[in-house]
Amino acid sequence: MDFLPENEEPKKKKGGFNSYWLFGLLIVALLATQFLTLNLNIKPTTEDEFFRKLVPSGDVAQITIVNKDREDARVEVYIKEDSLKTKKQYSDFKQNKIGFANKGPLYSFELTSATSFKDKLDAIQSQTPFEKLIKVKNETQKSIFDLLLSVLPFILLFGVWFFLMRKASGGMGGPGGQIFNIGKSKANLYDKDTKVSVTFDDVAGLDEAKEEVKEVVDFLKNPKKYTALGAKIPKGVLLVGPPGTGKTLLAKAMAGEAQVPFFSISGSDFVEMFVGVGASRVRDLFKQAREKAPCIIFIDEIDAVGRARGKNMMQSNDERESTLNQLLVEMDGFSGDKGIIMLAATNRPDVLDSALLRPGRFDRQISIDKPDQKGREQIFKVHLKKLTKLGPNVTPEKLASLTPGFAGAEIANVCNEAALVAARKEKSQVEVEDFNEAVDRSIGGLEKKNKIISPHEKEIIAYHEAGHAICGWYLEHAHPLLKVTIIPRGIAALGYAQYLPKEQYLYRTEQLLDEICMTLGGRAAEEIVFGKISTGAQNDLQRITQLSYAMVTVYGMNEKVGNVSFYDPQQDTTFTKPYSDDTAKVIDEEVRKLIDTAYKRTVALLTEKREQLNKIAEALLAKEILFKSDLDELIGKRLFDEEPVPVAITID
Ligand code: ADP
Ligand code: ZN
Repeated sequence: MDFLPENEEPKKKKGGFNSYWLFGLLIVALLATQFLTLNLNIKPTTEDEFFRKLVPSGDVAQITIVNKDREDARVEVYIKEDSLKTKKQYSDFKQNKIGFANKGPLYSFELTSATSFKDKLDAIQSQTPFEKLIKVKNETQKSIFDLLLSVLPFILLFGVWFFLMRKASGGMGGPGGQIFNIGKSKANLYDKDTKVSVTFDDVAGLDEAKEEVKEVVDFLKNPKKYTALGAKIPKGVLLVGPPGTGKTLLAKAMAGEAQVPFFSISGSDFVEMFVGVGASRVRDLFKQAREKAPCIIFIDEIDAVGRARGKNMMQSNDERESTLNQLLVEMDGFSGDKGIIMLAATNRPDVLDSALLRPGRFDRQISIDKPDQKGREQIFKVHLKKLTKLGPNVTPEKLASLTPGFAGAEIANVCNEAALVAARKEKSQVEVEDFNEAVDRSIGGLEKKNKIISPHEKEIIAYHEAGHAICGWYLEHAHPLLKVTIIPRGIAALGYAQYLPKEQYLYRTEQLLDEICMTLGGRAAEEIVFGKISTGAQNDLQRITQLSYAMVTVYGMNEKVGNVSFYDPQQDTTFTKPYSDDTAKVIDEEVRKLIDTAYKRTVALLTEKREQLNKIAEALLAKEILFKSDLDELIGKRLFDEEPVPVAITID
């Protein structure tokens, strides 16, 4: 069911049709009916005159007593046709303005008391022969208030409906009109007036990805070169990578380079509470795109619509599936040489329906990862251009080394934030320390300088973080430490340690075990030093629980459970676990054993290194933040090799 067939209404498209007008019109109409009944030709008279002159004259055909029970009671007097005296009266009568019956009354007067008027009239009428009786009618006019009251339910109903629609369509869009546009695509179009001005120069790093999409750009620029040779151009390119790495930026730059219109929409924009809206939006989007071809359609977060269609009956989602089906149909409906290129971005290619990835659809994938040191340098170069006054030693290299694990979006944010920090301090230029503060802020939310932590709490936090740091320092396979701090920030983290993990994709068992020990280091330190534990380790425990279960059930790293992997990207295991209850029991036992062993090992290590633990904790209490070089000084250099690597891990 479509809310509105797409070819129905040209007038609504302009957005000039506002639903508020409907209200206005309704009310004007009500008032109009009210006022139109007033006849301007009525002559005022009085009750006294009525009885003295009009009734005896025998000209009165009918009277209407209006609103007899109300204060504004009055009488309207209708005259017999042959009693009309003047020419004007007669022509008015002919024009339906006055006179008998349906034609308006000629006289009107106000009543002081309807009952006494009626008594008086009855007395006269009882003396009158039948054929001369004056007809008496009663009429109650509705006041505006009554009228409003009678339409109120409709207005309310309309209001509720309006509100729901507004909510359903995301509460956005121009002034009004969005009810009628619910089946329209919500894509942002960058066209002639709002041309994409982004080019490949604005996209830093990502050299391989840029190289790959250049061919597509070239095709959009001069399609003939390709079609003449019968070359087939990919219809769809899937950009895969974590958020903020520049997928949208790259897609925009493609449109900017090729100078073609750019449609941008998020997958979640298709999904609505009304059945059929998603599919209708897809259809509308492609209709618009066909008109503008050659062009680029970009669908962000395509996983919102593109998730694999219901394997599981309990979770099937008709609306999403029909949207996805429509998308597939539309993609098959145009051949690549029409000049419509589809781009889509996702962080979870594994959950996408395989039909989307088939040849002729999104058959090309480009992976876009978080930038490494060099990539970050380049991104900083792009965003530093926007800051006009930089301190002498602010270099992209330096900043890149401060921000392991940051994606492009975070780097852009850090640059802006640093300028804000500097401005707040009334500086004339942005310096490295401002960037440092900006980095800290973006890692853990705003520094909470005035959050009150008792000295004892601070001590516990210091030992907790020192525990993490020591484990990282003395365990061979743990990630080397970058910095550790007990400056409270955000809501949850009271402190954190940041590590540089080794650049690798395959982890060995001992590495994961060391990782678990390091994460347990916080709680173990608390227990050793204070003999009691606190809630501060909740996050740590959650992390190792996940990791341990993964080791046992996904990576096949447990002897008893064996070389099996129950990995399921859909995480549909809520209803059916792919293993027996017995296996489940073994898994639970083995996970417990794994964590217990790791904890004992951690306690042993920290007991052995108690002296160093104290040193670091005390230094933390004094300085609140320690970098790797500080640790080198305090407890001697770390024994194991370490190379700088791109992604940092932060442990509370
Ligand atoms: P994604 O679509 O991958 O989530 P975006 O393209 O929306 O990320 O990136 C958000 C912002 O981050 C961009 O507008 C840009 O300012 C910045 N950014 C991200 N990656 C880069 C990059 N490689 N070069 C320059 N700026 C970048
Ligand atoms: Zn911790």
